Amino acid sequence: MADTQENIENTTVWTNWSGNQVAQPAEVVEPADAGQLQALLKTAPDPVRVVGAGHSFTPIVCTDGTLVRLDRMGLVHSADSEKKTAWVNAGARLKDLSPALEADGLAFRNLGDINAQSLAGAISTATHGTGEKLACLSAETLAFRLLTAGGDVITVSREEDRDVFEACRVSLGAIGILIEAEIQLVSPYNLHRRTWAEPLGVILSAARTRWQSLRNYEFFYVPFSGYGISIAHEETDAPVTPRPESDDDDAVLGLKRARDYAGGDAPSRRDYLTGAFARFEGEDVIGNSWQLLASERNVPFNEMEYHLPEETALDALQEVITYIERERPEVFFPIEVRKTAGDEIWLSPFSGAGRISVAVHAFAEDEYDFFFSHIEPIFRRAGGRPHWGKLHSLRYRDLCDLYPHFERFCDVRRRMDPKGRFMTPYLRTLFEPEA
Ligand SMILES: Cc1cc2nc3c(=O)[nH]c(=O)nc-3n(C[C@H](O)[C@H](O)[C@H](O)COP(=O)(O)OP(=O)(O)OC[C@H]3O[C@@H](n4cnc5c(N)ncnc54)[C@H](O)[C@@H]3O)c2cc1C
Repeated sequence: MADTQENIENTTVWTNWSGNQVAQPAEVVEPADAGQLQALLKTAPDPVRVVGAGHSFTPIVCTDGTLVRLDRMGLVHSADSEKKTAWVNAGARLKDLSPALEADGLAFRNLGDINAQSLAGAISTATHGTGEKLACLSAETLAFRLLTAGGDVITVSREEDRDVFEACRVSLGAIGILIEAEIQLVSPYNLHRRTWAEPLGVILSAARTRWQSLRNYEFFYVPFSGYGISIAHEETDAPVTPRPESDDDDAVLGLKRARDYAGGDAPSRRDYLTGAFARFEGEDVIGNSWQLLASERNVPFNEMEYHLPEETALDALQEVITYIERERPEVFFPIEVRKTAGDEIWLSPFSGAGRISVAVHAFAEDEYDFFFSHIEPIFRRAGGRPHWGKLHSLRYRDLCDLYPHFERFCDVRRRMDPKGRFMTPYLRTLFEPEA
């Protein structure tokens, strides 16, 4: 699944991955290099927004001005195998970058649940995987080449124009167009992957120890079942073993069947799911890191994910489960729980300390107003910060309270884009007090 772009009666209609965001850009530009991008931007109608893979659920890409795609601008530009760094096209997809970097003896230290995103899209929203000692992707950035609203191509890093660099590391595309990124990588590595099912109570009492001892640990709680699936990855030198094709999409459709079969009858749904868990075989395989860390997700959903302080996260999760199992029989997607290390990036939800992320999903055909009315208040009471690419209702004032460097980011944004070329009405609600 991907974002879509269609021409209907001379109008371009763009929709994101799940179909909940739709835009009609006046122009779509797809430059082949930085020079072309610079030239195209001189006359492009505002607001100018870059789309990566369109995998965000909020209107952060939507524009009726210009939509920019950087897909034609290459993959890896240069690699330094000693420092384990590379300059890459910021618009390249993670799934294309991983094999290309591997050919240069390099790999991402960590990845999220999928790798369909563009690098720039992923870092612009602080995309993360799981691992107590593993930070979000933005924390792996070392420098950027970007096109500014004024039309200049500049290079920024910790040493050069530090404020702009820090702002670009998580920016929602509001500082400039990221053309190239220099990223910190590691040597390619294999992982031992195990997945298993067990009751929620066992997971909750073991989760903290598992995060401490395992390289990557996460779990998915299946609503109305009392059970969850754990996924663990450990680094290994052992050789790759055969891996059957993933049946994750079938498993999710099985959960939908359980919902449809049981209707609102929670006990019969639980019986049905308990039977399914008894047959769950799990995985025990060794493979290349990027192939095991990222999965394919083809059953469309909408999602809210908040990053919560460690002390409050698991209680908040239990409140969310209680609410869903009492009031929302239509929900069948598992609730995903991960942990990410802290960083110092101004707009990173993980700035200051590591956090536990709790993500709630609704089938794309179902309504998701309850995310805002009932789930978000639980996350907010627990001191959560929202994922920038996933559904939330926060505005400038809320964000100032949550991020100590928020105003600093807004100052740099105003300086870099005084005329608001990259600003849409939605982005103004985030970054401008008066909106
Ligand atoms: C099925 C699915 C699974 C997901 N799994 C995870 C997960 O495991 N972990 C996680 O953290 N998130 C996850 N997400 C969320 C996703 O990683 C983020 O929303 C990410 O931003 C999407 O990347 P993209 O390339 O699609 O960016 P887009 O959604 O296209 O864009 C995101 C933002 O980046 C900006 N942008 C894009 N390119 C540039 C550029 N070159 N210069 C400046 N700004 C730019 C856009 O304007 C926009 O503001 C998932 C989403 C889906 C649909």
